[in-house]
Amino acid sequence: MTHWREERKIARKTNKPSKFLEHQNYLVREGLLNNPNTTFEMLEVLSQDDSVQIREKLAKKFVENAINDRNWRVRYAAINDNLELSCEILEKLLSDKDIRVRKKANQLLKIQKEYVYREDFDNAITIKLVIPGSCNANCSFCYNKHSNKMEKCTAELKQYWLDNFLLSLEQIILKIDKKQPISIDITGNEPTLDTNFFIQVMHKLRGFSLRNEVSRITCTTNGIGLKKVAPFMKGVVNYVNISVHDYNQERRKQIFGTYFPTDKYYENAVQLLLDNGIHASAIAVVSEEISNFSSWRDSFIKWADKIGFVSLRFRYDVYCNNNSFLNYMNNTINDKAFYTIQKENTPDSNWCQLSTKDGFMVFFLKGVIDTYKVSPGIEFIVHDDGKAYADFNKSVLFEEYDFPVGYIFDKKSIK
Ligand code: SF4
Repeated sequence: MTHWREERKIARKTNKPSKFLEHQNYLVREGLLNNPNTTFEMLEVLSQDDSVQIREKLAKKFVENAINDRNWRVRYAAINDNLELSCEILEKLLSDKDIRVRKKANQLLKIQKEYVYREDFDNAITIKLVIPGSCNANCSFCYNKHSNKMEKCTAELKQYWLDNFLLSLEQIILKIDKKQPISIDITGNEPTLDTNFFIQVMHKLRGFSLRNEVSRITCTTNGIGLKKVAPFMKGVVNYVNISVHDYNQERRKQIFGTYFPTDKYYENAVQLLLDNGIHASAIAVVSEEISNFSSWRDSFIKWADKIGFVSLRFRYDVYCNNNSFLNYMNNTINDKAFYTIQKENTPDSNWCQLSTKDGFMVFFLKGVIDTYKVSPGIEFIVHDDGKAYADFNKSVLFEEYDFPVGYIFDKKSIK
């Protein structure tokens, strides 16, 4: 008698799969699900198989059969994370005899009424990793100052964070479950201010078991601790964004208030990163109207290129409603000195990627204060308390996030 494992192997590749449809062992019949020769008609037969496991696996493919199934697990599998169901089906399931199915149907119905699933999203989901601590600078537009949600930094909090941040990261990554690429952005306040702490974070990330699930790791910093931490970023961090805000040293001084990096300082930091295989971009938050923007922009690009940055990212100041920002962006898009690589307009952001004729990249990004309010699912946060959240304001814990994870939703009223 052939062992069932052998028979399952055959069921997975035979060109006569129908022979196994009536096999008494469900593990062998299940093998048919992986067989490319199994026809749609055969799968339909299997969608009513005696095995709950098989019916669960086919639930989304044969929704009509599944939502009328006698077992709640099959009905649940038909709707769980299924964004293509009609309101009619979901409304019917609101009176299902199983509370888990009713709850899930109610949740999806609410999402369908208020949000649009972003079907064409082919970008990464961002996980912000907020390193606990403060900042050496004092920029007026700093979102940490405005959000007022940052923890008071103590040695205990830091130790707790170090012991727990990977668990929180894992929680999010496992739920995304490869549905979208993942990008981690290490941020703060100023993440490199406590260099020893930052180095410990690098060590932990280097050994992180789910690192292969992350397509890239970036770090956004004002550069203060780079000299010491750059060698430890090697092989962990792919890109570093350095907030410089202005190419002019005097104006930079005024923006940072308490931090005065020179051009030479940036040159050395960028070179050090390069020596460790890491490219650096310059970031400039545009917090005021700039009278001759194109001339300022061009001088900035020249400066950034000379320092060794590979790109320059202009960002909208979400707190000062700088109405000219979109004009700056559109004028640059229409400027013949630039090629447009990408351009997107979504509820959470207006952004574009441009290139100069020499290949220097220039980005514009007008984002919103709270992406969760307009486009839930586009980013998650491991905050400075070490816990996972769905928003930067710590109002929704990740475990209480009510949307299918790994998908992006846009609030209807915003569109
Ligand atoms: S450098 Fe960044 S974190 Fe520090 S005050 Fe400025 S905006 Fe805030």
